[in-house]
Amino acid sequence: MSLIVQKFGGTSVADAEKILAAARKAIRAQREGHQVVMVVSAMGKNTDALVELAGQISDSPPHREMDMLLSTGEQVSVALMAMAVDRLGHKAVSLTGAQVGIRTDSTHTQARIRSISTERLRRALDDSKIVIVAGFQGIDEDFNITTLGRGGSDTTAVALAAVLQADTCEIYTDVDGVYTTDPRLVPEARMLKQVSYDEMLELASLGAGVMHNRAVEFAKKFSVPIHVRSSFSDVPGTMIVADSETANRPVSGCALIKNESLVTVTGLPDRPGTSWKLFSRIAERNATVDMIVQNVGEQGKADISFTVMSKDLPATLEAVEEVARELGASGFYHEDTVAKVSVVGLGMAQQSGVAAKMFRELANAGINILMITTSEIKISALVSRELGEEALRVVHRAFELDRPVEPSVEEAANKGEGLAASAGRSDRAVRIVERLQAMEALAVDDVSLDDSQARVTLGGVPDHPGVAASLFEQVAAKGIFVDMIVQSYARGGRATISFTVPRDTLTESVALVEQLSHSLGCGPVSHSPHAGKLSVTGIGMRSHAEVAIRMFRALSEQQINIGMVSTSEVRVNVVVDGEHGPRGMKALQQAFADALA
Ligand code: ADP
Ligand code: ASP
Ligand code: MG
Repeated sequence: MSLIVQKFGGTSVADAEKILAAARKAIRAQREGHQVVMVVSAMGKNTDALVELAGQISDSPPHREMDMLLSTGEQVSVALMAMAVDRLGHKAVSLTGAQVGIRTDSTHTQARIRSISTERLRRALDDSKIVIVAGFQGIDEDFNITTLGRGGSDTTAVALAAVLQADTCEIYTDVDGVYTTDPRLVPEARMLKQVSYDEMLELASLGAGVMHNRAVEFAKKFSVPIHVRSSFSDVPGTMIVADSETANRPVSGCALIKNESLVTVTGLPDRPGTSWKLFSRIAERNATVDMIVQNVGEQGKADISFTVMSKDLPATLEAVEEVARELGASGFYHEDTVAKVSVVGLGMAQQSGVAAKMFRELANAGINILMITTSEIKISALVSRELGEEALRVVHRAFELDRPVEPSVEEAANKGEGLAASAGRSDRAVRIVERLQAMEALAVDDVSLDDSQARVTLGGVPDHPGVAASLFEQVAAKGIFVDMIVQSYARGGRATISFTVPRDTLTESVALVEQLSHSLGCGPVSHSPHAGKLSVTGIGMRSHAEVAIRMFRALSEQQINIGMVSTSEVRVNVVVDGEHGPRGMKALQQAFADALA
């Protein structure tokens, strides 16, 4: 018998009317012949209200007690939902995370799911009940209540869909589906009929709050098709499946994170182990580092810039101060008011000039880019916070994201839907479920070395709009495919831009950059004909913050210096001197042996 998991977010259960409406949706699905598991969030803004209440008692409430408190929001909703189903004449049972047997680790407020027992769920389902599970919560080894992080009910829903091998997981929310960007910020945003796991992973972690990014990790890992749709209507929403609807377009969507802070450590010794020291020390303080830009050093010294969520800034600065002192850095500074705008698309992996276009449009709008990082399917630019929303609108317009996709592609997308649904029960997923002891454990697919590229670095770049734009426009005009780009931040000073290109285009690329450097008064230009790009790929590379640190450590132990770094949800890349590539690769294979599938 087919099984559906339906998740209702806070606004979808905000009052009695809405709870009854949600119950009717579940009953209808049951009438259509499905077994139904509902996952519900706390009503309306209840979780925020509880957080606020805790804040009135203490500035730093114990995390364990926060979980005890926050989990009550969902408990209210499941009980009311079960009453609603009962009133409508159907059988229901409400269950907390603990009652289901959703086991997590003990990281209170950010717990990860280890395992879920299906026995009780199955029994209730076989008894024709609609099973209503409290989202966002679990229980650790010692029966402490844990929560999965804000927005975590999505993750509960997709994880249940995975273990129950549901045919689909429906995420009911207050928008019609996944849009090209947040429709509240950009009214002309368009709903996507279909978006790929990888794109959604990036979008979710780059600021698209419509899905919890860890939910998408589960979906990808266990091939769960997700249908994001409105709880207030019956129109079909967005399918999140393996393939993209818009693979022929360079960009599928864009997103904004408004509350990042930027830290730059200057004059660090440019030698193996520096990044590892710095980032492991920050991780020890539970601060999560987002963008990392380490640029190629000069005269034995390197600057490292990175961003953290603003709430983690104080802890980060403590760690930075320590490390800067120990390593003899010349100093560090931070900027608390930055925002990150990103574009995401599977299509950009095959097209040149995408970055150039983004940089050009931002420059034309007078928006200065403080920092750049790219990965295969996303480009992120850091801008001043007050320009964040404007930057988002600019890039949305630049890539014509409001323009509907051609019908032929939509047809293909519809076909994809059916395929993806059947993939939900793939043998692969079953095997993974059996094998993984911890459902959310790190899953590394591959460690690889790309030996085919060269690196070009332009130093002394004036800190005003348009230089990156001109540079990458000229490179794209020659048809040269740029792979990785990093631009470091220069406060009141000059930035450094490094990028990688296919080795056979190096001479041409360097000539171009030298010309530009000359006309703009930048420089010096340096290059390396042999750049070794080492990548670790898998699922949840960024939410498992230790991936980058493990890489830094392994390379440091081999005395291999890191030139450039870029991170995404599906891979972490570092560029090293080409001659060290094979040795670096071996070291990484060893470092990730336990996580390699
Ligand atoms: P729920 O309570 O149902 O989990 P959320 O507030 O977590 O709902 O997520 C829905 C919201 O996500 C929308 O109201 C919208 O403002 C926001 N959002 C951000 N980015 C996007 C996007 N790309 N597409 C759709 N909604 C988005
Ligand atoms: N109620 C929790 C929150 O507001 C979990 C969720 O809604 O997904 O973050
Ligand atoms: Mg949500």
